[in-house]
Amino acid sequence: MALYRCEGVVLRTHDLAEADRLVIMYTPDRGKHRAVAKGARRPRSRLAAGIQPFTRAVYLCWQGRNLDGISQVEVVESFAPLRAHLERLAAASYACELMDAVTQENDPQPRLYALLVFTLRALAEAEPEVHAESPAALLGGLERLLLSFQWKLLALTGFRPTFDRCIACGEPVADSAGEVAVSLAEGGVVCDRHARGAGMVRVLPAEVTGAVTGLLRAPLKAALGLRLSPGAAAALSALTRDYLAYHLERYPQSRAFLDVLREQAGS
Ligand SMILES: [Zn+2]
Repeated sequence: MALYRCEGVVLRTHDLAEADRLVIMYTPDRGKHRAVAKGARRPRSRLAAGIQPFTRAVYLCWQGRNLDGISQVEVVESFAPLRAHLERLAAASYACELMDAVTQENDPQPRLYALLVFTLRALAEAEPEVHAESPAALLGGLERLLLSFQWKLLALTGFRPTFDRCIACGEPVADSAGEVAVSLAEGGVVCDRHARGAGMVRVLPAEVTGAVTGLLRAPLKAALGLRLSPGAAAALSALTRDYLAYHLERYPQSRAFLDVLREQAGS
């Protein structure tokens, strides 16, 4: 039986018959990869710890006719804090669900893998509290990290927005009133002339597009220091959600769960 080694992060698992568990992971060498962990749901299974969601591990796998299998696991980073707190769990689930939505098997993208690992590590280390006591601190640490993750993910998958000049004509966009028009369909800002023909236009404070540009340039954790007015924070969250929904044509389920948690924390 052919054996191979691969590193990966568990995106999700799915129970199969006979105490087996199907593991869907993202790997830097194979892209999204699925393998069965035989007997992993039995007590004292040696595989159980290494196939929990978010775990980063090196897997020794065997090649199967239809489905490969995992014979050994060596955990590299367990990211245990992600499973110990509901807010962190929701944030990490959302990140993994997005990765699952944008990636495919046999399509390795090491930069996407690195982004996922950095994100999970930062989420595990960040303060889980949602700071809802004042509107100025509308975005908690986890939310900020997820914003950065989402824009970096969009950029790496070919949807990097153009915010410095009109995406249709390339002219600088005048923002006399401090606002810019962003076309979700075109993927960037549009000037007055081109806003009319563009699809899905949102008028936003220029502070918002500036913040996205900053997030894209800076390392992921720099998002924790992002300064935004309360209005811009809400507009940034809405733009991120709409932009992703438009380009991915899918709204991850765990996002809705995260929103419920935030609403509860704010009420
Ligand atoms: Zn234009």
